[in-house]
Amino acid sequence: MDCIFCNIINGNIPSTKVYEDEFVTAFNDLNPQMPVHVLIVPKKHIASANDIDENDAELIGKVFLAAKKIAAQLCLENGYRIINNCGEDAGQTVKHLHFHLLGGKTMGDKII
Ligand code: AMP
Ligand code: ZN
Repeated sequence: MDCIFCNIINGNIPSTKVYEDEFVTAFNDLNPQMPVHVLIVPKKHIASANDIDENDAELIGKVFLAAKKIAAQLCLENGYRIINNCGEDAGQTVKHLHFHLLGGKTMGDKII
């Protein structure tokens, strides 16, 4: 499939992996916006948050359990932010569901 993140998951495109388990993989963003900027990606190809269905409920929970482990691994004990961009208005550029895990400095610019 012509999907960047599927190709990262199957090893055809290199990435700097920081975490992997049966359900998700996580790697450093190519264009980091914060000292820590990791993308947490379910291994199953789901196009966006809007394409999650009932059968994926447990999988999405796994994403957040992975986030907690990665945050501990990367010493984000002061906190972190998890962001998902869904669809055009939100500026989603890669059409494979992913969550940005951001941290490593105080973030002042809250949108909500
Ligand atoms: P979004 O705009 O929410 O769809 O986020 C897509 C993110 O993927 C951006 O932050 C990009 O910098 C990142 N990205 C795109 N290609 C790669 C890649 N090959 N390896 C790591 N991060 C990537
Ligand atoms: Zn994909």
